[in-house]
Amino acid sequence: MASSPEFDVAIIGCGPVGALAACLLGKAGLSVIVLEKEPSHYPLPRAVHLDHEMMRLFQSAGVIDRVLPDMVDTDGHLHIGAAGQTIRYMGTVGLARPFGWSNDWFFYQPELEAHLRAAMTAYPQVVLKLGATFTAIDQGTDAVQVTYARDDQDHAVTARWVIACDGSRSPVRKALGITLDDLDFEEPWLVVDAEVEGPVSFPPISGVPAGADLQRLSVMVCDPRRPATVVPGRGNHRRWEFMLLPGEDDAAMMAPDKVRELVGAWMRDVPHTIVRAATYRFHGLVAHEWQAGRVFLAGDAAHQTPPFFGQGMCHGLRDVANLAWKMAAIAHEGADPAILDTYQDERDPHVRAVIGAAVATGHYICELDPAKAAERDAAMIARAAAQAGAHQTATDLIPAIGKGVVMAGSAGAGERFIQPVLGDGRKLDDMTGQGWRLFAQGAAPVAEGIIADDVSTVDDHGALTQWLAARGAEAVLVRPDHYVFGTGTPRALIEARAAALGLIVETAA
Ligand SMILES: Cc1cc2nc3c(=O)[nH]c(=O)nc-3n(C[C@H](O)[C@H](O)[C@H](O)COP(=O)(O)OP(=O)(O)OC[C@H]3O[C@@H](n4cnc5c(N)ncnc54)[C@H](O)[C@@H]3O)c2cc1C
Repeated sequence: MASSPEFDVAIIGCGPVGALAACLLGKAGLSVIVLEKEPSHYPLPRAVHLDHEMMRLFQSAGVIDRVLPDMVDTDGHLHIGAAGQTIRYMGTVGLARPFGWSNDWFFYQPELEAHLRAAMTAYPQVVLKLGATFTAIDQGTDAVQVTYARDDQDHAVTARWVIACDGSRSPVRKALGITLDDLDFEEPWLVVDAEVEGPVSFPPISGVPAGADLQRLSVMVCDPRRPATVVPGRGNHRRWEFMLLPGEDDAAMMAPDKVRELVGAWMRDVPHTIVRAATYRFHGLVAHEWQAGRVFLAGDAAHQTPPFFGQGMCHGLRDVANLAWKMAAIAHEGADPAILDTYQDERDPHVRAVIGAAVATGHYICELDPAKAAERDAAMIARAAAQAGAHQTATDLIPAIGKGVVMAGSAGAGERFIQPVLGDGRKLDDMTGQGWRLFAQGAAPVAEGIIADDVSTVDDHGALTQWLAARGAEAVLVRPDHYVFGTGTPRALIEARAAALGLIVETAA
């Protein structure tokens, strides 16, 4: 194997996760080869929802202007019980948007993938090889050799690192012998997409909070006769998901008449066209190891999440944002390659927390016993009443990074950092850029690789000042993936960052 690798990174698989990885790495100036076995992106939607953090990553990757026109924001989640009563509301109507974007966004996956591919291939040092099927991997001391088949011939390429974004069946994961931890959830659901020329007809629902619009919510119908989900989409697109009941056959459920019957009940006189219907097994699975030497699993290759909060793909996008800034720091700043060993420590607890919440939600949604469903509904209504005022949105499911490239123990470390909207309408990242950012009360010392701002000079209606005050902090240092590295004095933060990255940094007063 050549000692000097041909590329910084080889990405295997160009679904949404591989494509965003290529955009982020390309923007950071790394050379990338992307190997994708199919001739074009998958033509049908799977994911439909993503959250504000993904919008911020699209800002970081420089693709927000491409993707935004094909997206719509909505107002959160509503779960309704067997008798049509509201049992859980995770809505965002009337709430502040601390991260600069609405919490919930809907999109059409083939459009998103097309935009990401167009953006990544605009970088001259990003090479996309379609029709290239990964076959083998061989790790050397300084590089990884990836073998792939294309045009009936075997080819090989070397890279400093490999990111396997090759989906749930991940041939790379299998080649590495990495097994999955089964988090005890497997339910069959029928997924139906339709283009709909009018509003969905909901049955009477009691207890819908004031201001909430059913057409703008993800509605989870926890009806033991047929648990179902109805979610909005961009434009005229709508998604339904119906649980298969015991003994129901996948092929019979996908038959056009059956699909028309199930979906038609929600669209009495509204013209609609069914785009597709397919059955899926919703799983909760996490790889035991996310890294083998220079090879990293990301996206569905590393984990699969039941889609009840629309987080499966979001996890994957967070994965590659985590890897991309670390790889760029090693390549450009001379950071210690060992920072990549924090990848699983940072990402695995996060993924497990959300899968845990999705599995717990899935268990109560999928309740088929009418008596138990009635007990569930009563318990959830009582719980909601007891928690009145402590409003929870899906954002609250995301835990802080506890261990990794963070100044553990400092207030706010590992949290996602806010993104205030500025007086001129821009968002904070548009002003600062996407790198390491130090926000301080007063002038901050200059340090290489860090953008510093005195919060009193930022026209953000005091949001940064309030954030610091709430944590009793003089300054905060934010990572390129928008997680808080830590809080403290500017100098202590600069020194702690240098130590965490294995850098020697000169600071000027
Ligand atoms: C019904 C359903 C609803 C969902 N809803 C949501 C949602 O609302 N929000 C959300 O965040 N997530 C959702 N998800 C999950 C989301 O769809 C996935 O997490 C996401 O598509 C995974 O992206 P990926 O890039 O990791 O993998 P994939 O999209 O599967 O891409 C993997 C790529 O690798 C390629 N590949 C495979 N083998 C090879 C090989 N040997 N060589 C080269 N290339 C290879 C494949 O061709 C493919 O292009 C949903 C999933 C389902 C099934």
